[in-house]
Amino acid sequence: MQFCDDCGSMMKKEDGVMVCAGCGATAEQEVETEAFISTEEQTDDELIESSEEANFEGKPTAKDVVCDACAHEEAWYTIKQTASADEPPTRFFKCKNCGKKWREYS
Ligand SMILES: [Zn+2]
Ligand SMILES: [Zn+2]
Repeated sequence: MQFCDDCGSMMKKEDGVMVCAGCGATAEQEVETEAFISTEEQTDDELIESSEEANFEGKPTAKDVVCDACAHEEAWYTIKQTASADEPPTRFFKCKNCGKKWREYS
Protein backbone atom coordinates (compact mmCIF):
# COMPACT_ATOMS: atom_id res chain seq x y z
CA MET A 1 0.00 0.00 0.00
CA GLN A 2 1.34 3.40 -0.93
CA PHE A 3 -0.02 6.79 0.04
CA CYS A 4 0.28 10.17 -1.64
CA ASP A 5 2.90 12.50 -0.15
CA ASP A 6 0.75 15.48 -1.01
CA CYS A 7 -2.73 14.56 0.16
CA GLY A 8 -2.42 11.17 1.84
CA SER A 9 -4.82 9.37 -0.47
CA MET A 10 -4.24 5.81 -1.49
CA MET A 11 -2.22 5.46 -4.67
CA LYS A 12 -3.02 3.06 -7.47
CA LYS A 13 -0.55 1.43 -9.82
CA GLU A 14 -0.92 2.60 -13.40
CA ASP A 15 1.54 1.81 -16.17
CA GLY A 16 4.31 1.13 -13.67
CA VAL A 17 3.91 4.36 -11.71
CA MET A 18 1.80 5.09 -8.69
CA VAL A 19 -1.03 7.54 -9.29
CA CYS A 20 -2.83 9.28 -6.45
CA ALA A 21 -6.57 8.56 -6.42
CA GLY A 22 -7.14 11.87 -4.62
CA CYS A 23 -5.11 14.57 -6.36
CA GLY A 24 -3.60 12.79 -9.35
CA ALA A 25 0.02 13.17 -8.26
CA THR A 26 2.36 10.49 -9.48
CA ALA A 27 5.24 8.78 -7.73
CA GLU A 28 7.58 5.93 -8.39
CA GLN A 29 6.41 2.65 -7.00
CA GLU A 30 8.12 2.09 -3.70
CA VAL A 31 9.80 -1.15 -2.87
CA GLU A 32 7.96 -2.96 -0.12
CA THR A 33 10.07 -2.27 2.93
CA GLU A 34 9.52 -3.52 6.43
CA ALA A 35 7.81 -0.26 7.28
CA PHE A 36 5.26 -0.84 4.57
CA ILE A 37 4.70 -4.42 5.57
CA SER A 38 3.96 -3.40 9.13
CA THR A 39 1.50 -0.70 8.07
CA GLU A 40 -0.33 -3.30 6.01
CA GLU A 41 -0.53 -5.76 8.84
CA GLN A 42 -1.58 -3.24 11.44
CA THR A 43 -3.72 -0.33 10.41
CA ASP A 44 -3.94 2.89 12.36
CA ASP A 45 -7.32 1.82 13.66
CA GLU A 46 -5.95 -1.39 15.09
CA LEU A 47 -3.13 0.51 16.76
CA ILE A 48 -5.57 2.89 18.39
CA GLU A 49 -8.01 0.21 19.41
CA SER A 50 -5.30 -1.94 20.92
CA SER A 51 -4.99 0.49 23.80
CA GLU A 52 -7.59 1.39 26.37
CA GLU A 53 -5.70 4.65 26.76
CA ALA A 54 -6.29 5.41 23.10
CA ASN A 55 -6.70 8.94 21.89
CA PHE A 56 -10.45 9.08 21.49
CA GLU A 57 -10.68 12.54 19.96
CA GLY A 58 -11.76 12.30 16.36
CA LYS A 59 -13.26 8.86 16.86
CA PRO A 60 -16.92 8.06 16.16
CA THR A 61 -19.41 9.53 18.59
CA ALA A 62 -21.85 7.31 20.43
CA LYS A 63 -25.16 8.99 21.20
CA ASP A 64 -26.84 6.03 22.82
CA VAL A 65 -24.85 6.29 26.02
CA VAL A 66 -24.98 8.33 29.20
CA CYS A 67 -21.89 9.21 31.17
CA ASP A 68 -22.44 8.16 34.73
CA ALA A 69 -20.11 10.85 36.02
CA CYS A 70 -21.80 13.88 34.47
CA ALA A 71 -24.84 12.48 32.61
CA HIS A 72 -23.59 13.87 29.29
CA GLU A 73 -25.11 11.95 26.40
CA GLU A 74 -22.28 11.95 23.90
CA ALA A 75 -19.06 10.02 24.10
CA TRP A 76 -16.31 9.03 21.72
CA TYR A 77 -15.86 5.34 21.33
CA THR A 78 -13.51 2.77 19.92
CA ILE A 79 -14.22 -0.89 19.45
CA LYS A 80 -11.83 -3.55 20.61
CA GLN A 81 -12.05 -7.24 19.91
CA THR A 82 -11.30 -8.93 23.18
CA ALA A 83 -9.40 -12.11 23.83
CA SER A 84 -11.38 -14.64 21.87
CA ALA A 85 -13.01 -14.09 18.54
CA ASP A 86 -16.30 -15.64 19.54
CA GLU A 87 -16.93 -12.99 22.15
CA PRO A 88 -18.55 -9.78 20.92
CA PRO A 89 -16.22 -6.78 20.60
CA THR A 90 -16.10 -4.37 23.51
CA ARG A 91 -16.77 -0.67 23.11
CA PHE A 92 -14.60 1.76 25.02
CA PHE A 93 -16.06 5.19 25.67
CA LYS A 94 -14.71 8.57 26.62
CA CYS A 95 -17.17 11.22 27.74
CA LYS A 96 -17.04 14.29 25.51
CA ASN A 97 -17.89 16.51 28.45
CA CYS A 98 -15.81 15.35 31.39
CA GLY A 99 -13.39 12.90 29.80
CA LYS A 100 -14.39 9.93 31.91
CA LYS A 101 -13.50 6.63 30.27
CA TRP A 102 -15.42 3.43 30.64
CA ARG A 103 -16.06 0.23 28.82
CA GLU A 104 -19.25 -1.45 27.83
CA TYR A 105 -19.73 -5.01 28.93
CA SER A 106 -21.86 -6.80 26.42
ZN1 LIG B 1 -2.60 13.12 -3.66
ZN1 LIG C 1 -18.97 12.81 31.65
